[in-house]
Amino acid sequence: MGMLDQIKESFMELIFPRRCPLCGALINSNERICSKCSRDVEFIRRPICRICGRPLYSCHCRKGDYVFIRNVSPLVYTKAAKKGIHRMKFNDSPYSCTYFGKLMANTVRMEYLENGVRLDCVIGVPMHKDDFLTRGYNQAQLLAKTVAEEIEIPLMNKVLIKQHKNRSQHTLSYIERQRNIKGVFQVARPELIRDKTVLLCDDVTTSGSTLNECAYTLLDAGAKAVYCVTATVAVMSEMPAIKAAAFRD
Ligand SMILES: [Zn+2]
Ligand SMILES: [Zn+2]
Repeated sequence: MGMLDQIKESFMELIFPRRCPLCGALINSNERICSKCSRDVEFIRRPICRICGRPLYSCHCRKGDYVFIRNVSPLVYTKAAKKGIHRMKFNDSPYSCTYFGKLMANTVRMEYLENGVRLDCVIGVPMHKDDFLTRGYNQAQLLAKTVAEEIEIPLMNKVLIKQHKNRSQHTLSYIERQRNIKGVFQVARPELIRDKTVLLCDDVTTSGSTLNECAYTLLDAGAKAVYCVTATVAVMSEMPAIKAAAFRD
């Protein structure tokens, strides 16, 4: 970096101090996240499930559970990751989005692109328009935008829409989640995804039922295949609210 760039960077930091994308604490220019969050962040390590993307120790997939081909995620949904996701959802936090989006893009490169998967377009899990109006933006679609830019594959965010509102999935069991999400999505312009291989993006994988329903809707409308990427995946110890019921069904 040249002298001028360094001066410019220091000046920018004075006006816009760098913040941890997960908790929002101030950080130095040589840090990506704060030291507290870096102790809690957990990257997903092999062996991972080739279907749901969870570390194998917490995978409960059965054959035929999902209609998408695979899901991959860079991070476990730990406390620090949860804070970062929360910042994306409820504060306008572009640096959180960039942090997660870049990690997701790297995972997509490693797991899909370098293994010969050809992706035609990127789509974020949509939000109902009422929720969008309340919140002002959709974090899954912001992540999809960052991923699409990073891997240089077209973004198609107006194709899949959420036409019905459903109850929040937070406290529901696995079976309840599947029922609650059934039929809420629709493809607005099927001609745009016909015979296309879609990369579907979301913030968190819990039961996988939202991804699965989106994938089902896309395939039903003529998509060739659906691969997924989410910023984080919940493992058993991090999902106490649904832990008891979720995986028994
Ligand atoms: Zn932090
Ligand atoms: Zn699995």
